[in-house]
Amino acid sequence: MAKQAVAVLGLGTMGAGMAANLLKAGFPLTVWNRSRAKAEAFAAQGARVAETPADAVREADVVIAMLADDAASRAVWLGEGGALAAAKKDAVLVESSTMSPAWIAELADAAKARGLELLDAPVTGSRMQAEGGQLNFVVGGTAEGLAKARPALEAMGKSVLAVGPVGSGAKLKLINNFLCGVQLASLAEAMAWIERSGLDREQALEFLKSGAPGSPLVAALSARMTSRDYTVNFLLKLMTKDLGYAGAAAEEVGVELTTAECARELFERAIAEGYGDKDMSAVVEPLRQG
Ligand code: NAP
Repeated sequence: MAKQAVAVLGLGTMGAGMAANLLKAGFPLTVWNRSRAKAEAFAAQGARVAETPADAVREADVVIAMLADDAASRAVWLGEGGALAAAKKDAVLVESSTMSPAWIAELADAAKARGLELLDAPVTGSRMQAEGGQLNFVVGGTAEGLAKARPALEAMGKSVLAVGPVGSGAKLKLINNFLCGVQLASLAEAMAWIERSGLDREQALEFLKSGAPGSPLVAALSARMTSRDYTVNFLLKLMTKDLGYAGAAAEEVGVELTTAECARELFERAIAEGYGDKDMSAVVEPLRQG
């Protein structure tokens, strides 16, 4: 059976790896990125580079967006030259970025008004998992919609989990990132404390990593903090965005995320000190400076 035509909108850290895996799996691919230079690299690998989101999606059976935040997603789907108005009648639309559930609901309604289905399919995993086709998708939407999108999602991920109606993926992803963001903020404070305490840092970290607090996140991010290698896996400013979206989404159902707010303050402080475009592990730097 012929492979579905796929369009990828957004070729940042995550979208680039995802697009590369779709090409590797043999999907006819069209790409679009706001800064065209990032898209050009894919032309050499056989992708068509589109001028606008609308131009990218005209022939696509599956349209996948991987963008920074709600504002970027709004611009790409609904703005001038936007994707939604140009999508084919039988296309399935997949928003894989980490978005607020409120925006996903609005976008799903706009899609429905055109007779199209939107799936929210955010991912866990980072740059390396995107490059290696090892992402985990959590998908909100109908079984029929997911069936259409599944072959493309499976080319980019190691798991595809249906979690409920549209919006469910966005909610679960924000709960995931709430737990990651709070843990990372605590790790940053612990790191600063360890470094000033006179303890042997390596010994202290080995002890903590092998004990109850020793999550995969603590292991990976404590290594980045000690090496001070802030090569971007996940931008600090995007984790800040996620903590804000998480707080608002929880508030909608009457839950106050007090710990997310404390964590977000640390991330905002790091942004104010110039670390927003570094890896999120750089949240430790202002604390090191006192
Ligand atoms: P990124 O490297 O910053 O890429 C962001 C993308 O959004 C770029 O293509 C950028 O275009 C585009 N963009 C930003 N503002 C725009 C606008 N106003 N109009 C059009 N395009 C716009 O981010 P990423 O790490 O790939 O993350 C993408 C999404 O996945 C985010 O929602 C993030 O929270 C989520 N996520 C990230 C990770 C991770 O580990 N990195 C993991 C899971 C989920 P330009 O190239 O022109 O700037």
